[in-house]
Formats: sequence, C-alpha cells, structure tokens
Amino acid sequence: MAEEDQGFSGGMQDVSDMKIKCAGCGKDITELPFRPKEDQEVHCTDCFRKKKDEERESRMIDVSGKGIKCASCGKDIEKLPFEPSGDRPVYCSDCYRK
Ligand SMILES: [Zn+2]
Ligand SMILES: [Zn+2]
Repeated sequence: MAEEDQGFSGGMQDVSDMKIKCAGCGKDITELPFRPKEDQEVHCTDCFRKKKDEERESRMIDVSGKGIKCASCGKDIEKLPFEPSGDRPVYCSDCYRK
C-alpha cells in the first residue's frame, strides 16, 4: 500500500477496493469517512466542500440595496444569512468570523 495522498487522517476508511467515483467530478475516491452502500452517491472532498458552500450561499439573503454596513469595519454588506432586524449590529463575514 502506498503511503501517499493521506490528506486528512483520523476516521478515514480505505474504500479503494470499492472502485467508487465522485458523482460530481468523476474522480476516483479511495478514502471516505464512512463506507457507502453500493448504490449510494458519493462525492470527493472537493465536491463535498463545494456543495456545502453552495448550500450556504443559497441561504444568503441579498441585502445590497439596504445600505447596511458592518458594525465593525464599516464595509457595505451585500449578503446576510438572515433578515436584518435593524436594531442589532450586523457584521460582514470577515468580522463575523473573528
Ligand atoms: Zn468530485
Ligand atoms: Zn466588517
């Protein structure tokens, strides 16, 4: 067994014997945090992460016309994951993460 390409260890299972391909990009999948069923759709880490980002992105509300500014850095805020109430400070994604 080649000891290469072990991106993140811990909980990953070797599934190379199952000959699984990513349902998104068609890349061979050799490791997964779980063992999928035969007919289960599986995505590689890249596609999985992309899907998560898209899901989060699709939940964002467009507030670009409301003139909302970040309470910390003053940057214009265009998207929020919630409807701003007006009486609470809103932070941009950069400041929010801090
Ligand atoms: Zn993929
Ligand atoms: Zn900010």
